[in-house]
Amino acid sequence: MTITVAAPRPVHRTALVRLRVTRRQAHRCYGLLRSAGDVWAWLLDSNWQRHQQGDPLVTGYQALCRELTKSDGFGELSVVGARSVLQRYTDAWFQAAARRKAGVAAGFPRRKRALVPVRCYSGTFKIEGQRVRLPVARGRPELWVRLARPIPYSAEQVRAVTLLADGGLWLAVTAAVPVQQHDLDEGRVAGVDLGIIHPYAVVTEQAGLLVSGRALRAESYLHLEDQKARQATAAGRAPKPGQRGSRRWRRHRARLRRAEARHRRRVHQAQHQAARQVIAFAVQQRVGTLVVGDPTGITDRDVGRVQNLRLRRWRRTHLLQALRDKAEHAGMVVRLVDERGTSSTCPACCQRVPKPRGRAFHCPHCTFHGHRDLVGAANIAAKAGGGPTSTGLSVLVEHRRAGILPARRDRRRHLHDQRRRRSCPASGHPGDDPASLGCRSPCVPDLAPGEDQAAPPKRVHVA
Ligand SMILES: [Zn+2]
Repeated sequence: MTITVAAPRPVHRTALVRLRVTRRQAHRCYGLLRSAGDVWAWLLDSNWQRHQQGDPLVTGYQALCRELTKSDGFGELSVVGARSVLQRYTDAWFQAAARRKAGVAAGFPRRKRALVPVRCYSGTFKIEGQRVRLPVARGRPELWVRLARPIPYSAEQVRAVTLLADGGLWLAVTAAVPVQQHDLDEGRVAGVDLGIIHPYAVVTEQAGLLVSGRALRAESYLHLEDQKARQATAAGRAPKPGQRGSRRWRRHRARLRRAEARHRRRVHQAQHQAARQVIAFAVQQRVGTLVVGDPTGITDRDVGRVQNLRLRRWRRTHLLQALRDKAEHAGMVVRLVDERGTSSTCPACCQRVPKPRGRAFHCPHCTFHGHRDLVGAANIAAKAGGGPTSTGLSVLVEHRRAGILPARRDRRRHLHDQRRRRSCPASGHPGDDPASLGCRSPCVPDLAPGEDQAAPPKRVHVA
């Protein structure tokens, strides 16, 4: 697949900014999202009714807008906000229809959601510094919200804002940004290998770049451990099917959602940083074409319980999309090639070798040895007629780190240390002190083997 970008055309960029709101503003914002959910449910229901009666469905945007005028409004939601939900529905419907036509399994929208994002187009909202006025229904008081950080675009570049809830309230600010002008050579090709250990390994004719995914892996590991611990403690209070959850259970669910959203944001942020480093490296090397190994279909094969989960949690699609977006912004061309066999072929003698277990690649046929991910990237570049020559890999290899390692004060690290499964515990915790290791509360009496504190020995009454 080839993406070609003409220089003058701007690219669209979206930044997610957290909202700082008062309790009342939050209430109104959630009201808007809930009303948008009502619009969504109304669309699904009315089309379901038409389907039941054998009438033709209404799916076009204009026709839906006419239907909207017949309804008597949705809470505080403005017409602009309601129309954005119609647009969302239309887009989803026609995309599904197109995919079905192409023979791909795709479902039409049918799931109701409590909160649906509200998008507002240029002219319907107002930005004043770090404050934004969101449109509301006519006759309602103005709704101003404060942003947690300044918008990274100038005011005239902003095209749309979207209000959404993801473990808190957020505003997605979309702007049209001009493509950067760099002195690039389209003939210069760099091979990019996507991976878990190293999110990106890049090789050009002269140099290589390895972006370390250590912080990303630490984050995923801690999150998985944390999630398992939460599930273990909360399993007992899960409601039965059909039963309404207790207040405690719903609070637990809300906490869970916040933790999930935080983890997702951290991974996204780290992947964006990694992609940014790749693009900076490519600009420095004057690379005009990035050849990327396509990881599609990697999850089709069963490779065991642990590896299956790792591959599914890798977020390779986002990794690829982040690189594509940034390459487009920098005026580079991205090409996808099949990555099969690229990590088990010797770049020097082009013979198949057994897949290396670690990161070191050794060829048994010739004397070649190098880094496995760089070998993969070199082979990917070679597939598109670029990359280093057969004499060997580039000598200059840069190492970069993407993302932030989980902080020492991260609650999850301390909980993990408490379970005593870490060789070097995080500092700033009572567990650090060797004297406090072992029993922390001296008043607990010694228990006989097999005796549990939770189940005290039964008293026997003698009559
Ligand atoms: Zn070889």
